[in-house]
Amino acid sequence: MKTSIIGYPRIGSLRELKFASEKYFKGEIEELQLLETAKELRFQNLKEQQESGLDFIPSNDFSFYDGMLDTAFLLNAVPKRYTSLGLSVLDEYFAAARGYQGEKGDVKALAMKKWFNTNYHYMVPEIDDDTEIKVSGNKPFELFVEALENGVRTKPVLTGPFTFLELARYTGTKTKEDFTEAAANAYIDIIKKLSELGAEWIQLDEPYLVKDLTESDITFFKDLYTKILSDKSGVEILLQTYFGDIRDFYNEVTALDFDGIGLDFIEGRKTLELVRTNGFPKDKILFAGVVNGKNIWKNNYTNTLHILDELKNQNIDFVVGTSCSLLHVPYTLKNETKLSDAYKKHFAYASEKLTELAEIKKLLTSENPAETTEYRANSELFAQPRSGENTSIKEKVNALSEKDFTRLPKFAVREKIQKERFNLPLFPTTTIGSFPQTIEIRKTRAGFRKGEVTADDYDSFLKGKIEGCIRLQEQIGIDVLVHGEFERNDMVEYFGECLDGYLFTEKAWVQSYGTRCVKPPVVWGDISRAKSMTVKWSSYAQSLTDKPVKGMLTGPVTILNWSFPREDISLKDSAYQIALAIREEVLDLEANGINIIQIDEAALREKLPLRKSDWNSEYLDWAIPAFRLVHSGVKPETQIHTHMCYSEFADIIGDIDNMDADVITFEASRSDLTILDVLKEKNFRTEVGPGVYDIHSPRIPAKEEIKAALQKMLDRIPAEKLWVNPDCGLKTRGSEETVPSLENLVAAAREIRSKYKA
Ligand code: GLN
Ligand code: ZN
Repeated sequence: MKTSIIGYPRIGSLRELKFASEKYFKGEIEELQLLETAKELRFQNLKEQQESGLDFIPSNDFSFYDGMLDTAFLLNAVPKRYTSLGLSVLDEYFAAARGYQGEKGDVKALAMKKWFNTNYHYMVPEIDDDTEIKVSGNKPFELFVEALENGVRTKPVLTGPFTFLELARYTGTKTKEDFTEAAANAYIDIIKKLSELGAEWIQLDEPYLVKDLTESDITFFKDLYTKILSDKSGVEILLQTYFGDIRDFYNEVTALDFDGIGLDFIEGRKTLELVRTNGFPKDKILFAGVVNGKNIWKNNYTNTLHILDELKNQNIDFVVGTSCSLLHVPYTLKNETKLSDAYKKHFAYASEKLTELAEIKKLLTSENPAETTEYRANSELFAQPRSGENTSIKEKVNALSEKDFTRLPKFAVREKIQKERFNLPLFPTTTIGSFPQTIEIRKTRAGFRKGEVTADDYDSFLKGKIEGCIRLQEQIGIDVLVHGEFERNDMVEYFGECLDGYLFTEKAWVQSYGTRCVKPPVVWGDISRAKSMTVKWSSYAQSLTDKPVKGMLTGPVTILNWSFPREDISLKDSAYQIALAIREEVLDLEANGINIIQIDEAALREKLPLRKSDWNSEYLDWAIPAFRLVHSGVKPETQIHTHMCYSEFADIIGDIDNMDADVITFEASRSDLTILDVLKEKNFRTEVGPGVYDIHSPRIPAKEEIKAALQKMLDRIPAEKLWVNPDCGLKTRGSEETVPSLENLVAAAREIRSKYKA
């Protein structure tokens, strides 16, 4: 009996890699120091995994920024605009990840997208007609050797060619199929080289397999792998899938010459049934993903044994593993010193999941698993009732009816009322909410949390910042202002802290993209609004200016999607509970003179099921109503905005319109503007602010660049529906780039305005 994991977090248990990278970006440390930090972190992971008794220890799951980007560099698929800068390899890599503006040139970053249904983001590889796919990097080889020198023969982990080529963006006339031969040869070379270095197993990650695939996708997959598997250099190849099941072509995949196949028994709702009805080939090993790689609750051994017993009974040769990479959970409970054991005993982070794997292995090899202390302790834990029940909330949710989800009067009527009320210029300018969070702000907030800064001092500090932010926006000439969100560490945690039923962790950081990490709170019990959340700050900001100030809230779907959700009640019930709490805040803001309220649903699309057939029944049928429940009670003259961090909603455009917001702002500068054609075609009703520049990069967009973007938008969007804004909040940016960027934005809007009038 053996155990395996798909990958491990890499940012460092105390985010060491993040801090080192950020210092490196600022020129505060040398490349060598960054490399040393990374090496030390890899060593710690290796040691921890080895000590836990894990059998298949991964390597190459480390990354300085993102695994897809690593694969692009490994496969020589790096656009010339980066390679021609003449930077060091590492800087070239960071230029592709973050954009580059300096002596050697001015280039934007590659596009960034959400990684399947997670809150992790990958860099989208760009392939043009000249791209020559071949092995050009060293990372998997170096990291394999490094681990071997530390005494561990690891299982190198690579993004598979199918997922890589499916997710890449093709800028020329060639398509993915044109790269079949070259990609297969590159992987054959990689396998060969790893074999020469001593690798025995190689894991190829192919999460794309759990999506809805077309016939041509399946053919493409088979073509790639028939070729690769014909030349394995004596290495065992593990095909690793995750985030779902491979229901459409289970038999075709298992018939290929893989030595191991990794299946997800947690999110793959059909996985067990597939194995049950079709069997599993005797000459292959099933890597059974039974420990949840995405959530922080302890594994329920009774359920797990139930699955594994079934595999055993079928005489399937299996390895026990996680459902996906542990990248999506925090490192270790050891750093959670403040959370009481009453809660912690229900949790398992990455490191504790290693222990769970070891325990499951022990159960499986013991004569009578039910008699072991590990099993007993586990079943006792799950038998106990959990604290935090609130029956009145449950009753409120049960009593909801259609009218609670319907805002009146209809959109067109409201739009007219609001145009008269606010009397904004054409192409109103605004921002998404947060302004740069300086070190001073972070320090003061942390000081307040620790009790080193008094409530009064903190209050006046924030008021000072809000005033500065209002004056700055007035000076720049923005039309709809924001208070700047200085009170918030994070757009979900902040709200969670104002809700009963939420739990907070101290160090449960999870990588979101590059050096950015999030610390999702935990939905523990039934949710209700414990106190007002934002009214004080928003109304203070509004008191300082005659211009409208937008109230700024996070929506229920995003709060839920960016939390670790309960597994004992449905997501729908949790979402409605949160929606009722945020609804109270919306009405409170309105009653306190806030006339425009933005309810961010940054993560709405994120949890859209990967298969279209599941979209409505499993998700949209409650997610869209949850949003409407939040704002359906406001007056017609109150303007509701929403914001999304992406523009990939062409296929759910009707659902987005059905959220029935008055205005939606979204990211559009990093992806191409194709969404605008769809908006036009579908007669999108909601007013729109497609982001005119990319805030994920430190570069400053020129006025002309913004004007050009606006011009393109105007070709497709009616002038009276177009807003002008950056594509997301500014909190991660510095003032140096934010102020000139916004000045250019306002100047561009003004010029287009006067041109348009003329
Ligand atoms: N209002 C939030 C902000 O500006 C939105 C952030 C987000 O969309 N991720 O920071
Ligand atoms: Zn955003």
